[in-house]
This record gives sequence, C-alpha cells and structure tokens, in this order.
Amino acid sequence: MIGLQSNAQLTSWLTQGQVLFLLIHILGVVCFAYIVAKRLEPLVRGQRDLRFDQPLARLGRVFKFWLGQWKHPRYRVAGTLHILIFAGFILLAMRAFTVLIVGVSQNFVMPGLSGRAGPIYNTVTDYAATVVFLCMVFAIVRRLVFKPSRYAVPARYGKAHTADAVFLLALIAILMVADSLFAAAKAAAESQQGRPLEVLAVFSLPWMLQSALASTSIPILGRLYFSGYLLHEVTFYFLLCYRPFGIQFHVETSLFNVYFSKLNRGTLKPVRLGVSDEHLDQVKSFGVKTFEDFTWKHMLDFYSCADCGRCSDNCPANAAGRPLSPRFISIKARDYAFQHYPMFGHAGNGKPLVGSKESGGIYSEDEIWSCTTCGACEEECPLLVEYIDKIVDLRRGMIDDGNVPQSLQKPLKALESRGNPYGKMEKKRGDWANAKDFQQNCRVKTLDKQNGADTLYFADSITSYDDRMQSIGRATAKILDHVGEKFGILGAAERDSGHEVRRFGEETLFMALRDHNVDAIKASGVNRIVTADPHAYNALKHDYKNVPFVEHISQVIAREVKSGKIKFNPLEDEKNVYTYHDPCYLGRHNQIYDDPRDVLDAIPNLERVEMTRSRDRSFCCGGGGLMLFYEPKEDERIGVKRVRMAAEAGANVIVTACPFCMVNIEDAIKVAGLEGKMTAIDLAELVDQQIARETQEVA
Ligand code: SF4
Ligand code: SF4
Repeated sequence: MIGLQSNAQLTSWLTQGQVLFLLIHILGVVCFAYIVAKRLEPLVRGQRDLRFDQPLARLGRVFKFWLGQWKHPRYRVAGTLHILIFAGFILLAMRAFTVLIVGVSQNFVMPGLSGRAGPIYNTVTDYAATVVFLCMVFAIVRRLVFKPSRYAVPARYGKAHTADAVFLLALIAILMVADSLFAAAKAAAESQQGRPLEVLAVFSLPWMLQSALASTSIPILGRLYFSGYLLHEVTFYFLLCYRPFGIQFHVETSLFNVYFSKLNRGTLKPVRLGVSDEHLDQVKSFGVKTFEDFTWKHMLDFYSCADCGRCSDNCPANAAGRPLSPRFISIKARDYAFQHYPMFGHAGNGKPLVGSKESGGIYSEDEIWSCTTCGACEEECPLLVEYIDKIVDLRRGMIDDGNVPQSLQKPLKALESRGNPYGKMEKKRGDWANAKDFQQNCRVKTLDKQNGADTLYFADSITSYDDRMQSIGRATAKILDHVGEKFGILGAAERDSGHEVRRFGEETLFMALRDHNVDAIKASGVNRIVTADPHAYNALKHDYKNVPFVEHISQVIAREVKSGKIKFNPLEDEKNVYTYHDPCYLGRHNQIYDDPRDVLDAIPNLERVEMTRSRDRSFCCGGGGLMLFYEPKEDERIGVKRVRMAAEAGANVIVTACPFCMVNIEDAIKVAGLEGKMTAIDLAELVDQQIARETQEVA
C-alpha cells in the first residue's frame, strides 16, 4: 500500500470505506464467535474422551495428515485438487489477513514482508490465487457435469448436498477474484501514473485483470479497487460464518480433528472412558443411545467429515448393498446436531438415535449391525474420522436395551454358557489335536500344572470346533513342532477370545470370556502366545491386559524362513496362480502385510499376483466371528465380490491367514459358481504342505 497516499483518487475510495470496513470486521468476528460457540454446545454436553495425551505423536499426525495431506493422493484427481487448494489456502492466509487489515489501516504491511520478501510473497500468492480459482472452477464442473459416483446420495440417506458444495466452491472462487481485482486495480492505477510499485505475476489472475484494466480511468479503477476490497471482505466473513452450517466446516475443524485422532489401531474404545472395568456396574447406561452419549471427539468427527465419500467407496458393506454407508453415519449425525442445536432456541431432544424416522431416529438397526468392523473407512478417510468405535458404541446401546438381532441370540447364549458360539462342550475344545493320523506326526499337549511349555497355541473357537478349520489348527501345530517350539494348548480351559463379542457390543460377556482366558493363560505359565486367528490375535494384543507377548503364525513362519529353520519343497503344480487376501485384523488393524507375502514368495515355483484391492486397501471377506451368524440384507455377498476380484487378478488359488476368511471365501467360491476353477487355502496349511522335512529333499 506504500505510495497509495499519493494517488488521492484511489485512496479516497478506501478511506471513505474505513468505517464500513471496520463495522464489517466487527460484525463478522462477532457472528463467527457466536456460531462457533453454538457449534461447541453439543461437544460440551458430550461424553468425555481422553485425547490430550502424547502431544508429540499428535503433532506428528498434524504434520503428516493435515499439513502433509498424506491420504489425499489415494484418489488422484480429487486428491490433487485438494492438495492444490489446501496449499493455496495456506499460502494465501497471510495475504487475506493483510488485505483485511489494510481496510482499516492503509499502510499496514505484514511483519517480515516489508523488504525483499514482500514482492516474492506477492508473486507466489498471485499464482496461488490463480490456482485456487482454477481448482474451484474445475471442482464445480466436476461436481455438476462428471459427478463421480461416490458423491451420489441414495434416497434412503436423504438429499445430496451438491447445491451447498457448489455454492461454497463458487464463494471461494469469488473470493479469489475479489482479491485479484483489488490487486489489479491498484497495479493498473500505479502503472497509468508511470510509477508501478508492484509487478504482478505474469499470467496470474491479478495480472490478467490488470491487463484488462490497463486503459480504465483512475476514477473507475478507484471504484473497482473499493468494490474489490468490499467484495473480498464481505465474501471472507460470509464464508467464515456460513461454513459451520455445512460440509465446509471441516476447514475450521480438520486441524483439531487430526490432532485429537485415535492413536492406537486395533483397540476399541472402553464403554466409558475413565471408568475401570471393576466400576462398570455403576454405569447406568452402556453405549450410545442419544446424541449426547457420543464423546466430544466423535461429535467433532461429525463436523469434520468433508462428505468426500471415500469411506463409503471402500466400505464392503456399502459395496454389497447392505444398508450401511459410513459417510452417512457422519452426515446424518451432523445434520441432527445442526437441527437439534440451533443457533437460537432450545437445544437437544434426547430421543434414541437408532429407530424409525417417525420416532426421531436417524439410524436403522440393520445399518448398525451391517458393519464388519473391517476398518476400510477409517484407513481411507483423509480427516481421520473414526467409525468402528461409534458403531460399537451404538451396538452397546442396543444390546443394553435388550435389542439383539434374532440370529445372534443363540450364539450369544452359547458363548455365555459354553464359551463358544456353537454351544459345543468345553471338554471337546481340544479334540482337534486328537485325530489319529495327526497324532502320529505331532503330539499337542494340553497345558496344566504338570505339563508346562514356553509357548501357548491359542486356537480360539472356530479352529477348535469347525471340522474344516481344525485343519488350520493341525497345520499350525505341525509348523510349531517343526521349528522346535515347546508349545501346548489350553484345551477345555480355553474360551472364545471374545473379540467379536466385544465388537458386537456385548461388553459384559466379553469381560467374562477375557477374564477366564487371562486366568487360564496365567495358570499355564507360558511366556508367549501364538495364534493362527487374526481375531484372537487382535483380542490378545489389544483387548486383553497382562498376558504374554502374542504373535500370529505368519510372523513366526516368516521369521523361521529367514532363520533357515523352514525350507520349502517346490510346488508341483506350476499352473496355479496364487493371490493373498489380507485379513482385516491382520492387515489393516495390525499392519502385518509383508510377512505372509514373504512366506509365499519363499516357496519355489509359486506364482503370486496382487489383487487391485490389497494390503491397506484390502476388501473384507464379509466379516468374522458373530458376523457369520448375522444375515444382513444385501444385493451380493461381500465374499463373492472378493472372489471375483481374485479371478480378475488372474488367480485361481486364494491364500488367506484367517479361519473366518476361509469360511467366507470357500462359501463365496461356491456361490460365485467358481467351484473347480478356484480354491482357497490357509497360509499355515500351504506352509505345512510345502515344508521340506528331514526325510524329504530340501529345495
Ligand atoms: S468420513 Fe472421511 S472419508 Fe468419509 S466422507 Fe467424511 S471425510 Fe470423506
Ligand atoms: S468398518 Fe468396514 S464395514 Fe464398517 S463401516 Fe467401515 S468400511 Fe464399512
């Protein structure tokens, strides 16, 4: 602004507006503060959440996921657009504040920009404004013309927010034009007087506007200068105050949402944070029933969802046509918050969230039971919005009200009385190890006071009782035996790990199963635990406390392949093409992606291909544990979709490392009509089959 005082006509326009500009500033700031205070109201009423620990780890996440936009490139077009817009906003922030202050203090220069840095910063921001403007135009065209399918809103979830999105994009474009017009009018006026103080960046939006205004008279330039300023100021404050009413609120909340995001994968939120298990009997109501039962952080999630649709795009339940789309878990709750916490008037209504629309509900029961807790939504979300904890909390609320799906009642009762969902006798739990042909090669001892061991093989229910899955148990035992592990099982003393029981909201039953297992594990005196079931692995690792170190069998095998204790015979049938399916509770929840692949790649003659959706983008098999007993409405089974993905990748053998995946995939192969063309095998079974034992030739 230096030198403008000499341009009397131009500055007079700005000077005349000073009072008006100041009033707009005050009004804008007061309105914004009021709106934000109202938006914070439900958070204050929400449940407590402990998110103030580990500040350095949290700051690291801010740098990676917020400033570094880490997840955005996973969607190339939308991600690139977002990164450009975000970078533009960050660069333009100082310029926007400078322009705002200039309205009331014309000679203001942002500290640090009075010297040489000023022109450099101005050049960079001229281009930034141009890029943001072009991105807005592109984003509007994309929303209106190309309409990526993930933005669509099925009728059952309400109305699309397209108009809102386009309006906000247009406002940002206007802000860029206003900013550029302000700079261009000033530069054009200076240029006409032969004393340009600032050279606008060539081919930038301000530069183009300046070129267009080159022969405009000074009085008109003055009006444009004033208009550009006024438009910038009004649009800026309008945007600031309008954003908290729609999806763009994430601009304000995302930084906080990322900072306070969940740090520990695989874990589940306790029933009530700050209340120990021993004192849970004093908690009057479990889970989320009304909106205020959500924690403040989960409410912040609702505000922070940008409605980008990436979570739903990756959700297997949504893909299979189940009545669940995670994006709308957030959007419906946010709309609920906006409606029931209005800017003026009475707040909250205390009605149950799950139930019919007529009774004030926003979620259906099927919607909440449809989730497999696979974690794909959370893995994909650029803003680190959480879903599993919320869905489990909603289930806890339903269970607390005695609202259990019919098909789950029997397995839950059996788990309570027998410690397994099949209702089979406890004493038969270790029978899988007594098969005669198996005992000739491998003896598995049941651990007790007399029979100790270093390692516990925790089989869990499905491997113990399901005839087909017992083969995984025997293969695992033979591998442990082969590498010289001194191990045993708990046999009748083992109970279901309770992993899925907990994720289905039955916390009390889970605690009973867990406590029984912890006592049995402690009594066995083992130093480590191995399991071939990723659900048991996740439970022992994250849901149990004070139990020895636990490993999945794929980790043990990978290590022993490296150590040389496990060597493989070459595969005889070289025509088969293998693909590895990542079980959600091994991959996404526990980041074990490489060990199973390293093992497969160590088998001579094994040809392996990757499915498009693999590793952290793996597609759930349909869900394990109690999900096997639940029959949701769906267009096509999740497992069938997964099997088709394997076929598309050119594979005819699907290797997995989870007994639940095996159930779903083998079943899906039949349903998809691929019997005879496609098979499934567990990693432990394949390894056991290919291990070069002493009597055999080593590859
Ligand atoms: S939760 Fe995350 S991924 Fe899903 S729509 Fe919202 S911002 Fe996008
Ligand atoms: S956890 Fe999996 S099934 Fe559940 S909402 Fe997320 S993506 Fe969908």
